[in-house]
Amino acid sequence: MSGKVVLEGRNLTKHFTAARGPRGRLGRRPPVRAVEEVSLSLRAGSVTALVGESGCGKSTVARLLAQVYPTTSGDVLLHGEAVRAHRGAAFRDYRRQVQLIFQDPFASLNPFHRVRYHLARPLRIHGHVRSAAEETEQVAELLERVSLTPTDQFMDKMPHELSGGQRQRVAIARALAVQPVALIADEPVSMLDVSIRLGVLRLLEKLADESGLALLYITHDIASARYFAEEIMVMYAGRLIERGASEELTQSPKHPYTQLLLESAPDPDRVAPPGSTRRGEPPSLIDPPSGCRFHPRCPVAMPVCSEKTPPRTQLGDGRWTECWQYEK
Ligand code: SF4
Repeated sequence: MSGKVVLEGRNLTKHFTAARGPRGRLGRRPPVRAVEEVSLSLRAGSVTALVGESGCGKSTVARLLAQVYPTTSGDVLLHGEAVRAHRGAAFRDYRRQVQLIFQDPFASLNPFHRVRYHLARPLRIHGHVRSAAEETEQVAELLERVSLTPTDQFMDKMPHELSGGQRQRVAIARALAVQPVALIADEPVSMLDVSIRLGVLRLLEKLADESGLALLYITHDIASARYFAEEIMVMYAGRLIERGASEELTQSPKHPYTQLLLESAPDPDRVAPPGSTRRGEPPSLIDPPSGCRFHPRCPVAMPVCSEKTPPRTQLGDGRWTECWQYEK
């Protein structure tokens, strides 16, 4: 991977207070350990995928990187500088540079406003246009970049007149309007029709390449991550458990969870040990399993697995995994 590191998370940890459940002796509810010591780097012009089943904490990582949530511990660095910007002008400036794209293109656009409004507003707020003519020109340019052409036809459409794929393209164009350096796309195609997913993913890939954007692609679908991202990080129960170049990791997965994830693609919620008819249950993040969090579902678990957290084993070329099988 050659691009310069743009956005970085170092030892990101996030514990939430549980909204329900029994209270402890001091009347407090135990924390939900959503994310534990996650470190990742996003590089200019490159796509990194964060893969895992529902509830593993990957969307929380997205919100920590976007500074929507404060971290419990750990740092977010933009261009090498630690940033804590959760409100006011600092937050607005940070979010101009780091944009989020959400899963649901139906909810992300205001149904009462035309496409032109959604794209012109950020241009005006951030002072990128000085006249109405300039505004129309830049809105058309944004529509062109996301392949919504002829642009004059799309400009005055209402959200309900667009397909799901077209709405997601408008959401992407709106993110691009503020000229970000990093884009965090949280399951950007999972609510779209299968037939149009590839087109939206190719668009994101083209934008990362042409604009030098650092792109984090968050998905439950490791098969799409393989074709779309240069690097894959696999997350399980709040922790990163394997990292590697996409092709190598998917051709030769090391961690048993990654292996089961690939066998279960495209539905990771089917992850279950071989021979088992039982669907695998993700563990509780309030009281996660001791040692390796995957041990209750792991087909090759050993006694040490439930006793101690496996250390990170470096496998060369930036590839690593956290599993006792690879520790000498
Ligand atoms: Fe399975 Fe043990 Fe490896 Fe965890 S550390 S994935 S339980 S073998």
